[in-house]
Amino acid sequence: MRAKATILAISVSLAAISVAHAQRVLGPMGDPPPMRAAPQGAPSAGAPAAVPAPASAPIRDASCKNPNAMGISRVVEIDTTGGPGFGFEHFKMYDFLQPGEVVLTFDDGPWPTTPIVLKALADECVKAIFFSIGLNALTFPEILKQVAAAGHTIGSHTWSHQVLNKTRGSMQIKIGDGKREVRDYDPKEEIEKGMSAVRLAIGDAGFESPFFRFPALVQPPELTNYLGTRNVAMFSTDFDSFDFKMKKGGAEAVTKSVMEKLKKHGKGIVLMHDVHAWTANAVKDILAQMKAGGYKVVQMKAKEPLQTLPEYDAMAMKEMNPVNANARPMNSVIRTVE
Ligand SMILES: [Zn+2]
Repeated sequence: MRAKATILAISVSLAAISVAHAQRVLGPMGDPPPMRAAPQGAPSAGAPAAVPAPASAPIRDASCKNPNAMGISRVVEIDTTGGPGFGFEHFKMYDFLQPGEVVLTFDDGPWPTTPIVLKALADECVKAIFFSIGLNALTFPEILKQVAAAGHTIGSHTWSHQVLNKTRGSMQIKIGDGKREVRDYDPKEEIEKGMSAVRLAIGDAGFESPFFRFPALVQPPELTNYLGTRNVAMFSTDFDSFDFKMKKGGAEAVTKSVMEKLKKHGKGIVLMHDVHAWTANAVKDILAQMKAGGYKVVQMKAKEPLQTLPEYDAMAMKEMNPVNANARPMNSVIRTVE
């Protein structure tokens, strides 16, 4: 269990690692096989199949065009002070979902496949959380703006999806023509620059929530403590679809995985990836089966927007527009003298 409010600020170099020209896009990677703590007292082994939550009118916002849509059953607001954790694989303090209630989460986007997910969610008027990678947010800002404009919750998932299992370490990045180069990375920068990039990409289309998920769910205590000092909520998962392994099985396999696990657990925060076409194409069927099974979708929202840090905003800005980032105002560069 993470010690809440233990202030153990990590001391790491803030030296910028410029990958701006090296790798603009971080392709679908899926999380590597997770290195997870064994669940203690698994919440659901042998739990009965879902019992639908008490009937109440679903919430459908004004943009909902489908009168028979699932809608969301309720919205929960999260006070992220101190960095609470969610998802029973790691955090067992807040068991807030009722039987049959589901929180949908999608990692690693935005990506050209994300609009397929958005369409499926919009058709049923349900909302999800998207944990975006900073690099991808700056590569596809218009797609992330669509996510925000549709009213979904947006959190972050590092700058370049490094698994943060060391306080400092090295990462391999593509430098073009298939070549790779090893560079140092700074875990704090991975987290903060990712958050700043996501905020920058959203722009005025919405706001970024202080919600964060570690790549591969590898969560070093010094970094969970750091996020606690930043008042950022951390998300593990109640169950992982392992959709990144299902390229062969396709959408059908993803749907089967999610629904079987949902039946077993009875409720939960579900982890999927919007960067995989087979997952994106499964969302429609997953929602149809959830609807038929009486499950309810709950939206998690943050009480306050994320406060990013100016030094990392500047780094993200530089990544977005490397040519103009150092430009001074015109009147300080060019002056009429005669
Ligand atoms: Zn990921």
